[in-house]
Amino acid sequence: MDLCNINVIKVLLAKYGFRFSKSMGQNFLVESWVPERLVLEAGVNNTHGVIEIGPGIGCLTQKLAETAGKVVAIELDSKLIPVLNETLADRENVEVINGDALKINIPALIEEKLPGLTPIVCANLPYNITSPILTLLISCGRFESITVMIQKEVAKRICAKPGTADYGSFTLFVNYYTEPKILFDVSPGCFIPQPKVTSSVISMVTRKTPLVSVNDEKLLFRVIRAAFSMRRKILVNSLMSSFGNKFDKGDIADILLECGFKPLVRGEDLSLDDFARLSDAIGCRL
Ligand code: SAM
Repeated sequence: MDLCNINVIKVLLAKYGFRFSKSMGQNFLVESWVPERLVLEAGVNNTHGVIEIGPGIGCLTQKLAETAGKVVAIELDSKLIPVLNETLADRENVEVINGDALKINIPALIEEKLPGLTPIVCANLPYNITSPILTLLISCGRFESITVMIQKEVAKRICAKPGTADYGSFTLFVNYYTEPKILFDVSPGCFIPQPKVTSSVISMVTRKTPLVSVNDEKLLFRVIRAAFSMRRKILVNSLMSSFGNKFDKGDIADILLECGFKPLVRGEDLSLDDFARLSDAIGCRL
């Protein structure tokens, strides 16, 4: 069954009385080259145990199952489960789980369902949960790679360079743990219903060790969050908002000077290396 064929999709959805839900980010693919290319670029093979978030009616799941060792597909919408039971009936290496990917214990799921396989993520993500789900998937530290379709503007934020408008705390978080790369764009016409925005497929390959080394990882991300909490403010003022109970403005200005930054520097000017230096300098005085 060609699950990207618009006529096949319409017949299936009518049979099960399915209606698209905007709040669940339901935009299904209707161009088969997209899941084919996504699977190819992710380098999926039979040593991989794939976690897919949001299989929909299973067009990507079907392609993943052709090459992966096993696919575990987590679908929130219970109305799609009978559809998936039909479309994936002949796929022995696919297991569908009805649940919320944001609430499922992913490390426990990997241990239980994908023993002996290398865990990776491949998905056309529901766009309304892009940041929380990527944060969860990256910080659980279990995946060799994460290859997903997301909104183009979020992909650009992830790959942004210092000093640009797209650069922010999420850029630094993703780059600390992974090496992100935008692979290709997908236009709204490739989906039903059509989203308002262009999408991009992005791969995030987990680094063997984080991009920079710091004394205290939690402090690094506290400093980064503080630096971007008031984007237009200079760094000394943004840091005061988070560390004002420990330091006065003069102390923070001294720390910035000690790290080699100009007095009027903003958070968006600093690289991850710079933030590591700053975080360690703050940590020494806490
Ligand atoms: N994979 C299909 C495709 O490419 O055509 C569907 C992708 S659609 C963009 C996103 C899917 O994620 C929908 O099937 C939606 O019901 C599901 N979904 C939304 N929120 C979810 C969540 N929190 N956990 C798991 N699945 C979710």
